[in-house]
This record gives sequence, C-alpha cells and structure tokens, in this order.
Amino acid sequence: MISSHLEPSHARRVFPCWDEPAFKATFALTVTVPRRFLALSNMPVAHEEPVTPDLKQVSFATTPKMSSYLFVLAAGELERLSAQADGVTVSVVTTTGKRAQGRFALDSAVDLLRYFNDYFGVRYPLPKLDLVAVPGGFGGAMENWGAITFFESRLLFDPAASGDAARRGIFSILAHEIAHQWFGNLVTMGWWDNLWLNEGFATWMQVKAAEHLYPQWQTWLNGNEQKQIAMSLDARRTSHPVQEPVTNETEAMAVFDAITYSKGAALIRMLERYLGEDIFRAGVRKYTADHAYGSTTTADLWRALEAASGKPVAGIAAGFTEQAGVPLVVAQARCADGEQRIAVRQERFTVRDPDAAPRRWQVPVAVGPLRALRGAETVLLADEPKEIAAGACGEPVKLNLGDIGYYRVEYDAATRAALAKSFPLMSAADRVNLLADSWALVEAGRAEPAAYLQLVEEIGSDDSRAVWEQVNSTFSRLDQLARGRPERAAVQSYARAKLRPVFDRLGWDAARPDADDRALLRARLIRALGELGDREVLAEARRRFDAFRRDPATLEPALRDVVTHLVGLTADRTTYDALVALGRATTSTTERVRYFSAAASARDPVLAGATLALTLTDELPATLAGSVINTVAASGEQAELAWAFMQQNFAALAARQGPLFRTTFVSNFMTNFSDAARADELASFAPVQATSGGRIVAARAQEAIMIGADVKARVLPAIDDWIKRRNARE
Ligand SMILES: [Zn+2]
Repeated sequence: MISSHLEPSHARRVFPCWDEPAFKATFALTVTVPRRFLALSNMPVAHEEPVTPDLKQVSFATTPKMSSYLFVLAAGELERLSAQADGVTVSVVTTTGKRAQGRFALDSAVDLLRYFNDYFGVRYPLPKLDLVAVPGGFGGAMENWGAITFFESRLLFDPAASGDAARRGIFSILAHEIAHQWFGNLVTMGWWDNLWLNEGFATWMQVKAAEHLYPQWQTWLNGNEQKQIAMSLDARRTSHPVQEPVTNETEAMAVFDAITYSKGAALIRMLERYLGEDIFRAGVRKYTADHAYGSTTTADLWRALEAASGKPVAGIAAGFTEQAGVPLVVAQARCADGEQRIAVRQERFTVRDPDAAPRRWQVPVAVGPLRALRGAETVLLADEPKEIAAGACGEPVKLNLGDIGYYRVEYDAATRAALAKSFPLMSAADRVNLLADSWALVEAGRAEPAAYLQLVEEIGSDDSRAVWEQVNSTFSRLDQLARGRPERAAVQSYARAKLRPVFDRLGWDAARPDADDRALLRARLIRALGELGDREVLAEARRRFDAFRRDPATLEPALRDVVTHLVGLTADRTTYDALVALGRATTSTTERVRYFSAAASARDPVLAGATLALTLTDELPATLAGSVINTVAASGEQAELAWAFMQQNFAALAARQGPLFRTTFVSNFMTNFSDAARADELASFAPVQATSGGRIVAARAQEAIMIGADVKARVLPAIDDWIKRRNARE
C-alpha cells in the first residue's frame, strides 16, 4: 500500500497550494489506481470507473474547508471492517487478511465518536471516518480529517498475541486522533506557534475520554510519567514556552515535543479543575461552535473559557503558555497557639541553570489534609506570599493535592517528615506526586538523595502500579547513568532488593487472567528485574521463551513483550538468530517490532553490530530501523558502537530515514550518553547544526547530556554512601 503524511509542510510536494494551516480550502481529488486497490481519502468515494483493464479512476466527494496538512491519500490491497456511530460510517482499514484485528479499535472508535459528539456539542461533520493501519508507517498516528493513519501496531490488536497494555495504548492514541477531528481539524491553530492548542488539548482529551469510558484504568494516575518528562525538560535552560515562535519547517518539527503535548495537557487539566468540569466544557463548546471551519490562536480559547466562567483564565494561563519554566512552591509551616499555618511563596524551579531569570506565575495551589481532595482549598498564589490555615500543629498537610497542578513543591524539613510518616495514608496520586517532586529536587541539587530514598523505604510491597513505576523509572535512570562506574553493582543490588518483594507478591502467573493493573505491573517488574540482572528472572524468561517456541500457546500474551525482551538482552548467537528469524517470518507489525527490538537489545557487541547492519537493508521500515539503533544504544548498552556506525554510514542512513534523521534523530540519540566530551562532539557535528530547528534540538540534547553528567558526578556517589550505610544498619 501507499499512504501520505503531510504534516507540517509536505502538501506542497503533492499539489500546488498555500501550505500553511490558516489557508483553508476545499479539496476535490481524483486518482487513477490499480483496479484491485482500495483508495481512501478524506471524503467517501463519489464515483469510480475502470479506465483500462488494469486501472480505475476514483473520484472523492469534495471536502469541507480544511488545512492542507490534513489532506490524505492511501491506497492498496486493503480490506475494511465497518460500523455505524451517530449516522457516521466508521471503518478500520487494514492490509489483506488483518481486518479481524481491527475489532477493538472499531468498537472504541464508535464509543469515542459518540462521546465527542456530546462533549464538543458539534457533531462530527464528515460522513465517514476511516482508521487506516499502515504497516510501514512512522511510529505514531496522523489525524488526517476523515482518514486517520496509524502505524499498524498502534491500531490492530490480536488478543492471542498481545496483552492489556497494548489495548490501552490503542485506545489512547485513537482517542487522541479522534479528538483532533474537532480540535485541530474543524478548528485549527492559525500557525505552528500555537501547535500546543492542537496537541495539548488532544493529549488531555485522550486521558479524559479514557477516564470516562474505562475509569478502572486510572489513566491520569498511571500516565503521570508524561507530566514528569515535560516538567523535567521545562526546568532546563533550553526549554521553550508552550507558545513558541516558529519561522520554518525544521523549527515546526522541533515543537513536537513533551512540552507541547504533556505540559499543554497538564495546563488544560489544571484549568479544568480550577473552573469546574461543566463550566470548562461549556467554554470548549462555545469555542468549537464559534470557530468551526476557521483558525484560532490560544487567546480565542481563553476568551471562550472566560465568557463561560467569569474567571481570569488568560491571566493564569499566560504564565504557563507565554514563558517557559516550572513554578516551585516553597512551603513553610509554623505553629501559633496550637494552630498550624503554612506560608507559601513561589520561585522558579530549575536544573543546572543557576543564572536563570526569575519568573512569576499565578499558580492555583490545592492544599489540604491528606485524603481530603473534596475539602481541599485552592489558593491562587501570585507575586505575594500567602499564608493558609492548616489544622492542628504537626498535622500532615499536602500541597498539590491530587497531583493536578503543574508545579513542584518544596516543604520545610518538619512538614516533609510528617508527610513521610503518613505516606501510606495518602492517595496514590499524592504518593506519586511526593516521590516525583522529591526526586526532581535531588536532580536539581535542592535535596540530598536520602530524602528520596527514605520515602522509597516507606512504600509497601502492595502499593499501586503508579507508585512502583515512579520508583522503577528512577532506578532505571540511575542504573543507566551508573554504566561503567563502580557504583553500579550496589545500585542494582539495592534496586533488586526493593523490587523483588513486589514481584514475589504477584508471581509470574495470575491466578486468573487479570486484565488490570496487576498484570501491567507484573510485566514492568519482570522487565526491570531482568535488566537489573536478577538471574532467576532471566532464567525463567528463557525457560518460558523456549516453551513458547515449542508451543506458542504456553506464553501468556501479556508477557510476550517482556519475556522476548529479556531473552534478547542475554542472547547468544543461536538465540539472536532465532529472534531475527521470528521477526522475518511474521506479517504482524506488533510482532516484527517485538522480535527486532529484542534482537537489538543483545548486549553482545558482535550481535549489536549485526543488528546495526540490518538498518542499511530493506528489511526494516525506516521507523523501525531508527528505533532499533536507539535500542542497541539503550537496552543493548552499545552506544559507542551505534554512534560509530551512524557516523560511518551517515549518508546512507540519512538517505533512508529522511530529513528528520539530521534535525532530530541524531541529537536525540546522543542523549544515550552522559559525558561532556559527547556534548562537545554533538555541538561540533555539522549535519545537526545545519538548520535552525536542528540547532534547537541539538542544544536541548547537549543540555540533557550535561545534566546526566552532573547527576552521575554528584548524586551517584551520595547514593552509593547511603546504600552502604543502609546495608551496614541491616
Ligand atoms: Zn496529536
């Protein structure tokens, strides 16, 4: 099959046009394709007739007014699975033989279309919505109006081969792209500097929809890491405002990042909470109705929300959209006449940026006693410090209650200690928030690692997935930074000692198939323990993989990714060849990704070299070739080898992978390193410095490398000491 992808500025390669989002036009497409092909575009087919024995001409109905980047053409040997939702024909379209795997996506799309018709108050305006699975597509999905394209593994689901994690991922990306049919396609940002309007909103809406249709998934709680990634980028010198000036194509590509998506989503969530769900939705409905088929800026959204709420939305939002950075709320408790009062003031939270200019925000700070989300008080903290009554002296008081705000909190020592003591009494969201802030303060040099590690000691082995995932991602960062250093063995052994009891409670096999958080936590822990060198876990993974090769039914779908990954890490030549053979044999993109990623994780340098050589062949689609190179560096721990390979074969890789290889891939790859010499090397590597967007991405990567170097030099030895003292106590 073929499939187009035009965002941000490739429509001009297909037809002459004013290729900027504000210039909306109607499109009437006629194509000539082989007669056995199914052809898809934004609108349904209006007319089709044979023109030769082999070819046919297909004309599509004229589109409504829309931006050129949303135009799409896909065609090939395809089949479809369809359903009706509120009068709209919804179809999953796949290459031949795969349409049964579209069932989950189709059912979800029907639910989502109905939900959004109601939420936005304007019905989906096209007669049909196609969801197209593209086997060789880029890694994600593209919201083309009326015909969304997806990398095949992000859309198709085979319950016999994949677990619940895949289902949740498919639902999220579907919800995101379908939300764009209104927010982005019907109402479009006027220019790429307001990309966050599209992406922040769609990212927020994907979680909102999941919380509505699958509340048991606890998507805000379990997706906390996305906000953490945005906040950690946003604390850096190279961060950018959510609304960032964009002057060319390469700069437009540079704004597709966690700040645009996840900070944007976190800001919307904070505003929704501040205004109230119903009032917020009323504002969104007004905005959608007022600007349908038109273009907007951020100010239009704030105006609609202000009209609906009567609250100063623009003033609060401006601080989070027009300037970069993360607020730090500094809390200090004092006791007077038996009553506790908390003084709060704000600073700018930064990492390794001592000369950062001071900034001010209007921060809605939710404060309250533990477990009292309902009774929480929200204080709008601006220039002046404030004081809040907070119960009896010594009573634990939590800020950013429910983890809804986009800011970090630093407590005085006594308040911190009271919170640590009450750790199990907090909601899971508050535990995750406290852990994440504590770790961020360590990386920023504002707290000793002990402050974080003492909290980890308070976590029960039966705690929720989100809590253990926060811990796990911190451990895995430490383990990565400790590569090749004397501290590594102690870090790994401490991390294993913390994670193993959690895993032992769950065990390898569920008593009954559990499509819940336990299944997801089990897989995550197996992965973590294997990567940390737990010999039993690695041996059991190998045993299960061998059994799977004799009889695939023996390996539970939810464990296939992780078992294959661990087998890949420790693969010898025979196992490696078996993984590559499985990857070659399958026609499923999910399985192809699984087997080639596992092969790329092999720690053996000879096998890593074999994987890298594959990226120059036609065997892997460009998307997968790029991710395989990253996997060789990350899981395979062969970053030097991969970098040497990339330099040697630069021209060939750039030709295969397209312009993004120079502007973003190389720089992002270099964040596998954490030493100053590599940051310098990147700074003087000409290809990444050739465009303005490339220079932006390279500068961000250099800073990420230097932050890693700093954590390595400052935090690792302190952690090593803490572990030694802890071991001596036991
Ligand atoms: Zn999007």
